[in-house]
Amino acid sequence: MPLVVAGAGRLRLLVCCLLLSAATVPALAQLDAPTKKLSRDIFQQLIEINTTDSVGSTTVAAKAMAQRLLDAGFAKEDVLVLGPNERKGNLVARIHGTGRAKPILFIGHLDVVEALGSDWTTDPFQFVEKDGYFYGRGTQDMKESDAVLVTTFIRLKKQGYQPDRDLILALTADEEGGKSNGVDWLLKNHRGLIEAAFVLNSDSGGVDLEHGKAISFNVEATEKLYGDYQLTATNPGGHSSLPTPDNAIYHIADSLTRLQAYAFPFELNPVTRAYFARMSALESGQTGTDMAAILKDPPVAEAIARLSATPKYNSTVRTTCVATRLSGGAANNALPQTAQANVNCRILPGHSQEEIRQQLIQVFNDPKVTVRYVTDAGEVVDNAGGSKPIPPTALQPEVMQPLEKLVAQMWPGVPVVPVMETGASDGKITSQAGLPTYGINGIAIDIDDVRMHGKDERVPVDSYYQGVEFYYRYVMMLGGGK
Ligand SMILES: [Zn+2]
Repeated sequence: MPLVVAGAGRLRLLVCCLLLSAATVPALAQLDAPTKKLSRDIFQQLIEINTTDSVGSTTVAAKAMAQRLLDAGFAKEDVLVLGPNERKGNLVARIHGTGRAKPILFIGHLDVVEALGSDWTTDPFQFVEKDGYFYGRGTQDMKESDAVLVTTFIRLKKQGYQPDRDLILALTADEEGGKSNGVDWLLKNHRGLIEAAFVLNSDSGGVDLEHGKAISFNVEATEKLYGDYQLTATNPGGHSSLPTPDNAIYHIADSLTRLQAYAFPFELNPVTRAYFARMSALESGQTGTDMAAILKDPPVAEAIARLSATPKYNSTVRTTCVATRLSGGAANNALPQTAQANVNCRILPGHSQEEIRQQLIQVFNDPKVTVRYVTDAGEVVDNAGGSKPIPPTALQPEVMQPLEKLVAQMWPGVPVVPVMETGASDGKITSQAGLPTYGINGIAIDIDDVRMHGKDERVPVDSYYQGVEFYYRYVMMLGGGK
């Protein structure tokens, strides 16, 4: 418990002016049997509907969940299944509030990555309970959280809950790949349906377990931006018996050597500040001291240098770019006419892909090396155009304060740790659209048992039910009302 005091103090500084009335949240108790069964049935139904890009359909899953909401008493006009084509449907549902505050949007993706049945011990599209785990494709990523969301919305509807603000649920297509990302499509085609003050994405965050013991409750509160850059040097070539210093491979090699020696500037944002404040109290020795020292004004340079030697901390305090692919030359006895490299960057929020391309050009400082941008679709283009930076997210008190309170009740002594991850989820899309997005879920998974996208994906049965209860309570705390 004492370990979390410093971090909690910092977060509390941000807390002020809550406008909403507090809903009456029932005292902590075990999940009642009907809710347990409901949440298990929904989870099973989702796992057994194939939603892979190759042969599956998110429409089938969206319609099945829509039917459950309608059966629970949602009005027809508040439950929509819509999408760009027959196979990539998205569900949007709404609980109406009194309108005292802007809505909250809850997002989850319905699609799952492919699963090769022959690799698995169980059938990936059968919901199997075995040895204290639920098995199936999507039990960690992220049908467990979709099921939690649907269960929560059904529970709230059935109890006649009226929040202070609308609660919107969007279960969507193609987060894992495919051409019809549902969040992107909804933002472009039906933004009004999902417009919100902020977004909760249960695809990230969560409770880390170490040997079964909860060690941290992670909130993904901001994301880095992804960017690939293609370096190219060309040359007329010639016979390798007559070399010149002007060699395409040397140009690329020199550029990469400069990149290796270069560090992007040190920079913190509200989330990484809160992260280091919290971690400085949890880490002992020099690392803990250094984490506190980089928060000073001005930050202590030696502390930055020492922390930067650890890749995880280095990537938290700056944009990073690294060479990931290399090619060049066509024959052993010919001077190379072309050499190329790929440089992969993870960009701090607040900076754009084009800004980083310009910076790379300065770092390489070689007019013979062109630096082009590689789009998400793999297309190589001259520049990153009007690519938008992801604005840094603030840790809003209305999100963090109830969370701290609930985590203290459900996982006493476990710190809430705000983290910045690389933009790998739909949170990137909502953030770029200007909607502050927080990755929060209450499902606990052992750090040695992360199986998302892998074989024999599973989630502990107890963790699942705890996640069901966590979310229900959290949504009521956020929604206020009665
Ligand atoms: Zn996911």
